[in-house]
Amino acid sequence: MIKKLLLGSAFTAMSFTACAHNHSATEQAFNPDTQRIKSHLFFLADDLLEGRDTGSRGHEIAALYIATEFAKYGLKPAGTDGYIQNVTFRKANLVQASPSFTLRRGDDTIDFAYPKEYLAGPSLLNTEAAVSGEMVFVGYGIVADELSHNDYSDIDVEGKIVVTLAGKPSDFPSEEGAHFASGYQKQKYAADRGAVGMITITTPKNEKVRPYQSRLSYIHTPRMAWLNENGEPANSFPQIKGGAYMSEAAARKLFEGAPRSLDEVYAELEADKVPAGFALPGTVDISKTSTHDVITSPNVVGVLEGSDPELKDEYVVFSAHSDHIGFAKTVKKDNINNGAMDNASGTSVMLETARLFSEMKEKPKRSILFVSVTGEEKGLLGADYFARNPTVPVTSMVANVNLDMPILTYEFADVIAFGANHSDLQASVEKAAANADIELSPDPWPDQALFTRSDHYAFVKQGVPAVFMVPGLKSKDPNVDGSKVFGQFLSTHYHKPSDDVNQPFNWKAAETFTKVNAQIGLTLANQEEKPMWNEGDFFGNTFSKSK
Ligand SMILES: [Zn+2]
Repeated sequence: MIKKLLLGSAFTAMSFTACAHNHSATEQAFNPDTQRIKSHLFFLADDLLEGRDTGSRGHEIAALYIATEFAKYGLKPAGTDGYIQNVTFRKANLVQASPSFTLRRGDDTIDFAYPKEYLAGPSLLNTEAAVSGEMVFVGYGIVADELSHNDYSDIDVEGKIVVTLAGKPSDFPSEEGAHFASGYQKQKYAADRGAVGMITITTPKNEKVRPYQSRLSYIHTPRMAWLNENGEPANSFPQIKGGAYMSEAAARKLFEGAPRSLDEVYAELEADKVPAGFALPGTVDISKTSTHDVITSPNVVGVLEGSDPELKDEYVVFSAHSDHIGFAKTVKKDNINNGAMDNASGTSVMLETARLFSEMKEKPKRSILFVSVTGEEKGLLGADYFARNPTVPVTSMVANVNLDMPILTYEFADVIAFGANHSDLQASVEKAAANADIELSPDPWPDQALFTRSDHYAFVKQGVPAVFMVPGLKSKDPNVDGSKVFGQFLSTHYHKPSDDVNQPFNWKAAETFTKVNAQIGLTLANQEEKPMWNEGDFFGNTFSKSK
């Protein structure tokens, strides 16, 4: 899972006894083999795989392992080269000594200091990036007709550098808001209107969530994008030549002599008003140097062919990311981020799900596609590549079930299905949960908009209804508080070397989670009608394609 997300620090001796399977065949169609799940997980999270960073040898070994398992189960290869779909990425690093940002206003010249006063990410487009021009403040820089919001009405930004507030208006719903306030959308609104650069300024609210100071730890982080057949980075806007992210103090200087000061703008935000835009005095020159590398990294795709002569041309898609974040830079002793929960666990559950389907005597009616994606930790890149360069028509994908970072350390009494509220997938999840004697709980963190933050969202953006499944926070054991366990995982082990095989796994939890996911897949593959977005759903309306 990318960004902000959590296991007890207790070191528990692993038990290697296999679970007993005593359910009758009528009661449970699927009998996961937890010994297999454990084996997959222990292999994928082994130190030998060096944290499975996108493009690394360790991740290549993980991909080969997954392809080999697919072959064992008799899945048909559904990549572009057997099971493999190689993705070409550009990786951009910022030359730290290079950023320059000068404001000229009347007789004044102000040189802003990097990184103390502003941040500049590496450019994926140009090794030498530079932009000069006048500035226009455009509020949040969002155009959301559905929410009757347009920060660009009556403002001309042609050839100008737009100055936007980080984030979104406080009255925007969380998930829709995450869409409108994404960096991609904000750049799109600006580029569509002829802007040539974008400066983002922090806000008091934003400082509480992600302080400018905390961003300084990430200035060496490379940026990545997949390259299309012309060698151009996806999801980028060549017209936007440059930009910066400014601290509060530095941004205050930009607004000197403007119709309103930055503090007046902040006061409007405090009063839940949407600040109107205006031109800012002076001109700026912003430039930076980046280095570019090309790397390739595989998605792995296998298909279990459906049994119905017509419905087999439709696909239920399971996805789980196999990449993680490689070596930790700041830790000396154990510096391998093994990603046992993130996402060796989800991948292992997906592999066992694929095996269970392959062993069914009566195959499901629709085909089932298993996609192990790369580059999730770099911004859902492998999934985005697959959804936009699919090996089966995207309009034939009826639903996506995504597994990312299931915390498998306690017997949970519920599951969470991010996105279930947007489509009739909710009914299938409820049924599958009931079948495993647990329940479906609503999203416990609606403010986090997790629906937009894992690989399924790449499918959503191509119109495919999706759910992102994780175990819920209710525990069957009165002595275990699921919320606490999850919180501890996030604060102590998430994206750290301690997310490794020493986590106190509970294999019964892995079994239940596999059962639920397999059952969801089976329901979706066999139901007469294909899953539908809810009537009038924002994501359905925004992204669905005519089928
Ligand atoms: Zn992650």
